[in-house]
Amino acid sequence: MATELTQLTAARIAAVVASGEASAVEVTQAHLNRIVAVEPDVHAFLHVAGQEALAAAEDVDRKRAAGEPLGPLAGVPLALKDVLTTEDMPTTCGSKILQGWQPPYDATITQRLRAAGIIILGKTNMDEFAMGSSTENSAFGPSRNPWDLSRVPGGSSGGSSAAVAAHEAPLGIGTDTGGSIRQPAAVCGIVGTKPTYGGSSRYGLVAFASSLDTPGPLARTVLDAALLHEAMSGHDWRDSTSVDAPVPPVVAAARQADVSGLRIGVVAEFSGEGYQSGVLARFNESVELLESLGAKVVEVSCPHFTYALPAYYLIAPSEASSNLARFDAMRYGLRVGDDGVASAEEVMSLTREAGFGPEVKRRIMLGTYALSSGYYDAYYGKAQQVRTLITRDFDAAFEQVDVLISPTTPTTAFPIGERVDDPMAMYLADLCTIPSDLAGNAAISVPCGLAPEDGLPVGLQVMAPAMADDRTYRVAAALETALEQRWGGPLLAQAKGLGK
Ligand code: GLN
Repeated sequence: MATELTQLTAARIAAVVASGEASAVEVTQAHLNRIVAVEPDVHAFLHVAGQEALAAAEDVDRKRAAGEPLGPLAGVPLALKDVLTTEDMPTTCGSKILQGWQPPYDATITQRLRAAGIIILGKTNMDEFAMGSSTENSAFGPSRNPWDLSRVPGGSSGGSSAAVAAHEAPLGIGTDTGGSIRQPAAVCGIVGTKPTYGGSSRYGLVAFASSLDTPGPLARTVLDAALLHEAMSGHDWRDSTSVDAPVPPVVAAARQADVSGLRIGVVAEFSGEGYQSGVLARFNESVELLESLGAKVVEVSCPHFTYALPAYYLIAPSEASSNLARFDAMRYGLRVGDDGVASAEEVMSLTREAGFGPEVKRRIMLGTYALSSGYYDAYYGKAQQVRTLITRDFDAAFEQVDVLISPTTPTTAFPIGERVDDPMAMYLADLCTIPSDLAGNAAISVPCGLAPEDGLPVGLQVMAPAMADDRTYRVAAALETALEQRWGGPLLAQAKGLGK
């Protein structure tokens, strides 16, 4: 059974562990073996915690033997993005500046995963401080897309998406500030959710842009994503922006998988020029499919969405320039030039010069400029006004429709190296995902087929009002069911390479 265990969904693994068909230790060992086999090619992990994972699995097996109740994901392995703190593993955020730092505490999400009996296999690769769309900005080398190792797995949560697509783990955690869960999910052919802002805790999440950062699930099925969503979410008094309300019923919605009577709006602004033809073809087919399932589909214009990208690239760097000031060579990780003679300022400057990569430096400079006196109103202030207009576009749209849909990202996975010297081309990967981050509402990406020209996965995005996350799961699950009927099995079963 050992190799097949890595092919199972999270829901199935939990059932297998609960029934005693396989132990949590066997499940964990199977995934650790898979990691050993494919990591030289995929490089999804920065740190694998084999011993800790097996100990956590033994704990689940012990609880089961003692007849204690197990949660719905007990014994299921997970790949955790290296931006959430873990007291028993390093946390680097893909940066040299944090190399060797071991946090003194677990993030709330880490705590909740452990309490649910979920097995954390290790920490996954990411663009440095979550700034990027390909993992190529990691200080530790890129991860590779399991469908085609010459291509990126998306980013910034590309380590987690690659691990899930390559069957190194059935579940992953990513974080989404501008698209970093949904875009890697789309290009790896898996499901990724950005919960409502404040729906999942930021306590122990190393901050990039605090008004946008949202942790969320990655999985191979919509139901698995929903199960993880429920396990990780809910109010946290340690996070001042955490929503104090019940978690939307996402698991029930994923099981409901029904769109009859639902009003679905296709975002008019997200098609046409700059979009790969195969992406649009698969998207349009899915729209027809949803209509045939009984949804009422209309086109909806959100005129300010075209300004989301420039607004984001003022707001996110502004917040980052302030958040990253804490890496001052005194408190965490790296310290360069401390010879007992150099001043604190010199050590700080030498450390930041050596510890941060080029994209992080670019963001700090952009953000510092946008916040500087004399420019604040013209740049940061204007961007905040645009943010309000985007939120109003959503409000107006959600008066007419229950959800909005669009392609998740304009193209399939691009070749490693293709966009590294062209930041603007890299930024365009998040064209369709950024509006939901700026408005703080709920969104999901679900696989909708392969682009005929390159045979690579395409993602469809479903967006819903804040705290209506369940609607995104309802639509995604209905589409998943209908598409799998058409394909005769899950999309990943069609995968080439290591996605198999
Ligand atoms: N690619 C976007 C950026 O570089 C989004 C990143 C994210 O969501 N963390 O800022």
